[in-house]
Amino acid sequence: MKLPLNVNLKDKVTVITGAGGVLCSAFAEALAQCGAKVAVLDINAEAAQKVADRITEKGDTAIAVPVNCLDAESLKAAHAIVAEKLGPCDILINGAGGNNPRGTTDDEQFDAAVEGIKTFFDLDPAGVRFVFDLNVIAALMTTQVFARDMIGRSGNILNISSMNAFRPLTKIPAYSGAKAAVSNFTQWLATYLAKSGIRVNAIAPGFFVTNQNRALLFTEDGKPTARTGKILAATPMNRFGEADELLGAFLFLLDDGAASFITGVVLPVDGGFSAYSGV
Ligand code: NAD
Repeated sequence: MKLPLNVNLKDKVTVITGAGGVLCSAFAEALAQCGAKVAVLDINAEAAQKVADRITEKGDTAIAVPVNCLDAESLKAAHAIVAEKLGPCDILINGAGGNNPRGTTDDEQFDAAVEGIKTFFDLDPAGVRFVFDLNVIAALMTTQVFARDMIGRSGNILNISSMNAFRPLTKIPAYSGAKAAVSNFTQWLATYLAKSGIRVNAIAPGFFVTNQNRALLFTEDGKPTARTGKILAATPMNRFGEADELLGAFLFLLDDGAASFITGVVLPVDGGFSAYSGV
């Protein structure tokens, strides 16, 4: 793949969670192409292995490590494997995350006349909590385990926020609140770790079709949903993004030369979505 930026990450030990998924597998491959030694972490061991295999087949360095980012013991075990096989972590990408139907309403606005659907009043707090845990607590716990390696050296942490962090999207109160917390955590941690030589930033992707949002965007027979129409109308570039279009922002923020004085930013990559008022 031709990368949009040449960033030298030679032998940097890079841990990326959710790396069996659509966006983070593209990140993992790009990191390896920049010379990083990549630990491909995912709860889906098979998906992680496939990504690691794709990287090693090209002659670059990667290992697959199964992990549940919500389980402290699992994270510790993953850390031990990475430390033994690759060394201490230089770069951490907190990519595991996503929405879940348990934190989603069926309606965009409440209408008392409509019955038989899941409204805000029917949301199960446990489902909402799961989405917060997956996006916020997982990033926090993973950072506690891996960023300790960076203390006394230097390091780089990148979180994945979202458009719904700036303004909530209808139907997904849990995911919107969770990603707002991810942006806030990014700023907090950037401040906290700034004197330790560790930069912390986030990218905020606009709309990219992946496993975690496919059901909201397309019907089972592949037709765009009404929501897809609204998203594209609210995106000045009038299309979904492609995963490799995140790579420029992603690699730029990880580049200790080009982004040496940048920490605590949440960089939108969104075809103009966050800039457009809708009018
Ligand atoms: P994806 O579903 O393709 O990938 C998510 C990956 O996370 C999966 O491989 C999954 O197995 C893994 N995962 C889930 N729970 C885990 C856990 N407990 N521990 C470890 N791994 C776990 O989705 P994606 O769109 O590629 O998502 C990547 C990140 O980008 C997520 O944080 C998502 O919220 C964010 N994001 C996506 C979009 C988009 O439009 N797709 C937009 C904004 C932000």
